[in-house]
Amino acid sequence: MELSGKLQTTLEVDTLIELFAQVMGNQALYDSLDYHAPTSGMALHFGQDEQRNKLGYNLKVLDTDLGQIVVSRNKRYNKSEIAKVENFLAALLYPLRNALLYQTAIESAFLDSLTGIKNRTAFDSNFNREIELNRRKNSELSLVVMDIDFFKRINDQYGHAVGDLVLKQVAKGVEETIRSSDALYRYGGEEFVVVLNGTDQLGARLLAERIRENIESLRIESLKNLQVTLSLGVSMMNEGDTAETLFKRADEALYVAKNQGRNQVVMSE
Ligand code: GH3
Ligand code: MG
Ligand code: MG
Repeated sequence: MELSGKLQTTLEVDTLIELFAQVMGNQALYDSLDYHAPTSGMALHFGQDEQRNKLGYNLKVLDTDLGQIVVSRNKRYNKSEIAKVENFLAALLYPLRNALLYQTAIESAFLDSLTGIKNRTAFDSNFNREIELNRRKNSELSLVVMDIDFFKRINDQYGHAVGDLVLKQVAKGVEETIRSSDALYRYGGEEFVVVLNGTDQLGARLLAERIRENIESLRIESLKNLQVTLSLGVSMMNEGDTAETLFKRADEALYVAKNQGRNQVVMSE
């Protein structure tokens, strides 16, 4: 009962398992405890190295896999202790299922369902923090805002499904061009942004140009005649910048790129 109450207090998977481990530990029910989450790859370990007497459980509610718990002890488990462990596990099942569901929901709220990359919500939530972090570290931060050229025509000529395919391929092409420390977001319909950490003006320009070239040479399977191009605007963070002013300069540069004929990179300064 005490355990059930405790487990109701959180929806964080790691906090939940930690509470569970505390209560199990108070009853001397393990020397080591390991939890492996089903899909996220999360692995938690409590206590010492694994000992020779082990109890392992695949946790399930109906058909939902909730991961795996292994407890081990130097001292053998007797029958009543095994029953105790299993009672505790039974109290863990539903809170764990809720926490895993919650985690999945939070993660998907920050992802764009079409392209699988981070969405506008994620951008709004991360960008301010990135700016503050860079200000404190006094390092460089650049922003690239890009927009597919004449995308409406692609939709009109080939249909919405092809338009969707183009969006996916462009997202993939940009993702493959950037470094893992750079963050790509789908900002709106056919607009994407990349936040470049620790990248100066020259580096940002080179990267934007590389993105432009890669998308220009992108060919979509079964639509060899379809050429997709991007216009890109780039801004670099200055001392007094906020998320809004930094974004605005990149967006203005993008607007210039459109007006100068598209399929090009324009630097904000
Ligand atoms: P420009 O070169 O000036 O950017 O022209 P454009 O045609 O790309 O610009 P416009 O803003 O007029 O058109 C954007 C189009 O993007 C209109 C909208 O229907 C389409 N769009 C937005 N989101 C999606 C989507 O998720 N899937 C598809 N297929 N089309 C989308
Ligand atoms: Mg647009
Ligand atoms: Mg466009």
